[in-house]
Amino acid sequence: MGRTYLITFVCTIAFGCNAQDTTTSKKHNKINSLSDLYYKNNKGDSLPSKSLGTVSKGTLENGKLMPNEGENFSYFSAESYLAGRAYTHEKVMKTVLATYASLGKKYPGRQFKLMECSNEKGGKIWPHHTHQNGLSVDFMMPLKQSDSAYYKLDDRGRAHYLLDFDDRGRYSADSTVSIDFDLVAKQILILDEQARKNHLKVSKVIIKIELKDELYSTPHGKKLKAKGIYVVKALTPLINDLHDDHFHIDFEEI
Ligand SMILES: [Zn+2]
Repeated sequence: MGRTYLITFVCTIAFGCNAQDTTTSKKHNKINSLSDLYYKNNKGDSLPSKSLGTVSKGTLENGKLMPNEGENFSYFSAESYLAGRAYTHEKVMKTVLATYASLGKKYPGRQFKLMECSNEKGGKIWPHHTHQNGLSVDFMMPLKQSDSAYYKLDDRGRAHYLLDFDDRGRYSADSTVSIDFDLVAKQILILDEQARKNHLKVSKVIIKIELKDELYSTPHGKKLKAKGIYVVKALTPLINDLHDDHFHIDFEEI
């Protein structure tokens, strides 16, 4: 993990960002329908998925494509979606969709964003270190402003990975916008609950280390801690910095 790696990553997603900034609503609709078409043509067959190896060195057989959107969620980047980076194990897909359905009942009207998953056949998916065998998924941090849901940062495409939040979870460019940690904790609790119905469990949560206190201090965060779901204890500085705008989940088959 060197400097060149980071710079190239930044440039790639900055390019994605420019493309999005100039997108007219007409073009936006076209991209949406392209994603819908891509989903229709690539959602996969009924053969059982198989995760081989580990999240950091592995492959995926019979991966399934996450839907581009649902009632209360959507995939965060058409560029990423069309590049084939939203594939996952079928059990993970069932788990994630059931989680959104459950969130829809508990938080009516609340919208959520799904971020990168895996390649169709798994393997390396730059710049992620993991996400290789269809058992890793990134979820956008839900944001709030004055206790209301805040969505204005949700449509930045892959540049979303570079948004900065301070150690209390406040957006660096506008401290009135902050991460809704209670909702993050609730989402993780539901993900684990639904995972277990699909012979999976949440084996690891990655968020920026400095944000763990905020996560655990909320009502659902206390339950998350009490349940013993593993939240990572140390990260390299770069990986740590990248996990403030989203949280990463590794699932494990049980
Ligand atoms: Zn991740």
